[in-house]
Amino acid sequence: MASDQKHDDPRVYNFSSGPAVLPLTVLERAREEFMSLPGCGASVMEISHRSDAFNQIMESARIRIRRLLAVPADYTVLLLQGGSRLQFSMVPMNLLQKGRTASFIVSGHWSKTAMQEAAKFGSVDACWNGQESGFKELPETSQLCFDKDASYVHMTSNETIQGIQYHQEPDTGDTPLVCDASSDFLSRPIDISRYGLIFACAQKNAGPAGVTIVILRNELLERSQESLPGYLNYQNHASHESRYNTPPTFAIYMLDLVCQWLEEEMGGLAGIARVNEEKARLLYDLLDNSEGFYRPHAIPAARSMMNVTFRLPSEQLEMDFNQQADQKGLTSLAGHRSVGGIRASIYNAMPIAGVESLCDFMKQFRDSVAEVNEHV
Ligand SMILES: *Cc1c(COP(=O)(O)O)cnc(C)c1O
Repeated sequence: MASDQKHDDPRVYNFSSGPAVLPLTVLERAREEFMSLPGCGASVMEISHRSDAFNQIMESARIRIRRLLAVPADYTVLLLQGGSRLQFSMVPMNLLQKGRTASFIVSGHWSKTAMQEAAKFGSVDACWNGQESGFKELPETSQLCFDKDASYVHMTSNETIQGIQYHQEPDTGDTPLVCDASSDFLSRPIDISRYGLIFACAQKNAGPAGVTIVILRNELLERSQESLPGYLNYQNHASHESRYNTPPTFAIYMLDLVCQWLEEEMGGLAGIARVNEEKARLLYDLLDNSEGFYRPHAIPAARSMMNVTFRLPSEQLEMDFNQQADQKGLTSLAGHRSVGGIRASIYNAMPIAGVESLCDFMKQFRDSVAEVNEHV
């Protein structure tokens, strides 16, 4: 248990990459209302998705998302299922036009996976590929070579596994920009009007697993062909106001509570962005001042504010690091199995105190290794 948490609180500082930490006040509110939603006499999981009570929750979640992100009036907000992986298929099925290409900025694991999925439906190409340089950096707009006639350009705003993030979205002109924002959704203000479509599963930053948010410009709905399976058609979800089938009611309830927390406790996206920058600064400063002991993966200009990835001098030390951190109540710090190393995911709900606690541990761990080395 982390020492500065309440004594009766058995919660650790959870650095999981997803599903990830949720705000404590949100969990407490959900616990209070678990058996009976106020005025309902039943759990949110037990009521109809067409009831007034649930309608209000769903509307509230959508209105809050619109308000937080200042979503323009000509965009639709859909609350779907299937996670971001399903969007890897739904986006090309709906938006990739016959005889045209979908162009991908291949910046890491997730954009590469999205391109492989899209290739099952039509023509794809990579308008930039960071694989050879080890997925450490991101392109400038001038480095992107995509056909202006492409159906869309796909980007991943934050590569969760490599820990790299755009700090300014590329400008694709009239070609719609599609963004997988799964791991930095609602972490900072963004200009939605620069995107044709943006999607995010909830379980990194916005709620529990089970609901996926899709925000798209209305004119793109016209591309959805009637021959598509009903569930896979954006136009269909839009005309049914995300109630084409039973929506994930509990996950949407939690999403609404998280949005409420952002608005009422954190000062909206500008407020949470300041906290996120501070947390990232603490960690990167420590990495940069460790005389090469901690080795950050990303080049400074592409560093993620959400997933801080780094290596230690050896795999043995990385295992020791994780084991000792775990004992101190700093959990889930192992990097993704495909890249190894350490990954500290510091999403919205990770308090500054959790990052300070991690920094203290990291200083202490480095000192303890230095001491051992002096004695050999
Ligand atoms: C987690 C993640 C995904 C996959 O999300 P699922 O909900 O598991 O399908 C896709 N893209 C990014 C950037 C992610 O972080």
